[in-house]
Amino acid sequence: MKEIINLLTALFFLMSVSAQENKVKNLCGQINQDSLRQNVIELQEFSTRYAYSPNRKQVAEYLKNRLENYGFEVVLDSFLLQTGWYLTEADTLWQYNVIGEKQGLWAKDTTVHLMAHYDSRSDMEGFEDYFNFAPGADDNASGVAALLEIARIINENNISPIKTLVIDFFAAEEQGLRGSWDRIEKISTPIWQEDIKAVINLDMIGYCQSDSTDYIFDLITYHNSDELTQMAREFAEQYTMLTPNETTENNYASDSYSFYSYGVKSVFLMEHEFTPHYHTERDVYNTINYHYMRELTKLAFALAYECSVNNNYGVVSLEQDESFAKQVVLLTNPVKDNLRISCRNFSSTTQYVLYSQSSQIIKQGRIENPNGVNTIDCKDLKSGIYFFRIIDENQVLIKKIIVL
Ligand SMILES: [Zn+2]
Repeated sequence: MKEIINLLTALFFLMSVSAQENKVKNLCGQINQDSLRQNVIELQEFSTRYAYSPNRKQVAEYLKNRLENYGFEVVLDSFLLQTGWYLTEADTLWQYNVIGEKQGLWAKDTTVHLMAHYDSRSDMEGFEDYFNFAPGADDNASGVAALLEIARIINENNISPIKTLVIDFFAAEEQGLRGSWDRIEKISTPIWQEDIKAVINLDMIGYCQSDSTDYIFDLITYHNSDELTQMAREFAEQYTMLTPNETTENNYASDSYSFYSYGVKSVFLMEHEFTPHYHTERDVYNTINYHYMRELTKLAFALAYECSVNNNYGVVSLEQDESFAKQVVLLTNPVKDNLRISCRNFSSTTQYVLYSQSSQIIKQGRIENPNGVNTIDCKDLKSGIYFFRIIDENQVLIKKIIVL
């Protein structure tokens, strides 16, 4: 009998894990190649997104609008770009970072960042009209297009993150990561490191000549971010057709580097076959492989979802903010005979799993009282450390308990 119960609990656990996996797979399946392509075309239609061109605020306003239409709260955050390149009035120009937020239900001051720069340049190989024509389809309309598509999926599926999900579209990356430097300098405070859980940066994700049996991407890593890197490796396998090429090469060459320099855990996703149209007038929308780009968009989505919607990575405690919708308090911890927990605002389908330090499932069941006190019998448990996992729809919360 006991074996059967163990088998059933193991089965239940596997089912809840695979339900979660299926949910992400389903959401990834909604990422649409045609929308990605349309997004790139619309960005290219500005003709230029060169940081010094007069239309830069117009581009920023367009991006602000797009994110607002997907239910994000958006601000344009301006900064002065001073480079000394031209030694004219063009030396000092206002630039506009576009900052979109989907506020976290549980921990609104804790953030997960998806980022891509929106500016472009085309001054290589002697092209002279680079002020007026800088299509930057791969670099980096591709990254921006992916994040717009992710925002669409989040909106259409009414996804509510527990941590605040931020989409940063940075300006003047091509002038030395200027937008992201300005941003991290502004948001860093003495305790800020605890608040920014992860950065997922997309820069140049669309060029690939290989066929789908050989889709490789550069998983560009930072020495402080092993857990995030590991997750990217696993999710690439689980949710995409991509094989990672893990490297630290060029990890200083895009916006994640600014955040990493301040200690933020970061990962940077990029195409593996470097586009031959880099920084030229030939970097146009029809040089992009949208099927490949869709796979990288899936990976970015799965990472952002795990970091902001679930509570397994960069775990936030429910007690830290009294204003959120769902609350759980352990009334007895350490536990002697019974574990008593107080719940608030959970749904009637909420489940729990109690498992040991070696991940063995000890008990599982329904939270009988999603709006009140629940008692779970722990008399038959050996003393030690256990983990109590609450699963409500797509939100997961884990608490450590000690049984005496
Ligand atoms: Zn770039």
